Amino acid sequence: MTLLQFCYLFSAVLFILGVRALSSPETARRGMNLAAFGMLVAIIGTLFGKHIVSYSWIIAGLIVGTLLSLPISLWIPMTKIPQRIAFSHAGGALAACLIGVAEYYRYRYSLDSAHMGVIAVEVMLGALTFTGSLVVAGKLHGVLPGHPITYKGQNTVNISLFFAMVAIVLYLMFNPEMNALFYILLSCAFLFGLFLVAPIGAADMPVVIALFNSYGGLTGAIMGFMLGNRIQIITGALDGASGFILSILMCKAMNRSMTNVLFGAFGKIQEDKSENQPGRKQDAHEPKSLSIEETLEFFEHIKSVIIVPGYGMAASQAHHALRELADKLKAKGVSVKYAIHPVAGRMPGHMNVLLAEANVPYTDLFDMDEINPEFQHTDLALVVGANDVTNPAARYVKSSPIYGMPILDVDKAKKVIICKRSLAPGFSGIENELYTNNHAWLLFGDAKDTLTKLAYGFKRGW
Ligand code: NAP
Repeated sequence: MTLLQFCYLFSAVLFILGVRALSSPETARRGMNLAAFGMLVAIIGTLFGKHIVSYSWIIAGLIVGTLLSLPISLWIPMTKIPQRIAFSHAGGALAACLIGVAEYYRYRYSLDSAHMGVIAVEVMLGALTFTGSLVVAGKLHGVLPGHPITYKGQNTVNISLFFAMVAIVLYLMFNPEMNALFYILLSCAFLFGLFLVAPIGAADMPVVIALFNSYGGLTGAIMGFMLGNRIQIITGALDGASGFILSILMCKAMNRSMTNVLFGAFGKIQEDKSENQPGRKQDAHEPKSLSIEETLEFFEHIKSVIIVPGYGMAASQAHHALRELADKLKAKGVSVKYAIHPVAGRMPGHMNVLLAEANVPYTDLFDMDEINPEFQHTDLALVVGANDVTNPAARYVKSSPIYGMPILDVDKAKKVIICKRSLAPGFSGIENELYTNNHAWLLFGDAKDTLTKLAYGFKRGW
């Protein structure tokens, strides 16, 4: 076994162990470090490979890449991570696509059908992932409209374009020298990426990110076959499979099918506000609000609280203040638990990552299925910047875009306090009837500011 083969084998083991460790918040940090170390080993091994002709282009690439990625890594806030990930996918996919184009350019007159097919599929997937990921990043960052962009016959156009690309790939396999067709395929794939994502609403972008992650992985694996690079095949396959599993898990958590995400134009549907829907609460009142002092008064009389964090906690970076408040409550003998909805926030594991950063013990975190039966026995549900994941309309308003999504049964707690800035809806754009329940109170204000004041109120021995 050569040194390079040993490096590749070692890094492949590290990648697999890394992905395995990412499956639990407790070991996720270790998983990231293992995978990053694996990548370092693979890069160093490659740099010492015999096949490298010149180091000058590699060094130039390293410098440009570092100059671009360092500021991105250092200064992008946690709340902007989803669009940053989409942007990285775009970069990786473009790189794989360009390698495919270069390989085609070099060998186009001597390619056999199998190699031509591999190159064509790589270029197609790479190009559509590139433009698709850019649209995802744009939608999430708000520079492109977040709502689904639809028109009559859209699915027909998209499906026709897809089959046209498949036909071109098949034709090229037997006529690889058809330059013009190859570049038509490339242009169609760039266009297809745009068309594919345009009709998908911003709320579904995290699912699309995971899907493009898997396309990017597949492109990498195909590139590995083409270049005869085993580590590329392994990492691509791992990336492709894990991205695909993740997108399926997220669809399940939102109770939606993949076809509904890709072709359903989520966010276009308007909520049915008719009064007589089965299950709609009849005891609804005007939303009531609480002051900081009144909330502290509430805390005096509770024995148990379930904290429900959501996107607003991430947006205001309130996780440290939240832990401080939870510590104060615990010190007063209150049982404190955190309810984690699988799609709370804007990316999978968003809440887990933030709460781990604030050193909240993993044992205090409970998944939806575990915690839901406990709400009815709990004195207080404290909702911090969560909205859609607590909206009872998901249970019965059939026309609602979140209909069928399992929610946290916050409304079943004895009392509910919701910390947010206004009555504005969540990501799905629909009102939350939880706010009009007669045992729910709104605590208006920025989450970090409000929780800091609450924790400070405790310090003063309220
Ligand atoms: P959400 O429904 O988007 O609601 C977040 C709430 O936070 C808003 O109502 C907002 O109200 C409040 N907020 C924003 N900034 C705040 C601040 N500085 N301080 C206090 N509150 C603040 O969030 P969610 O309940 O976490 O639900 C996540 C949504 O994303 C779901 O619709 C889910 O389907 C979707 N989604 C997530 C994922 C994922 O991977 N996590 C994947 C796909 C879809 P105010 O403006 O009034 O403050």
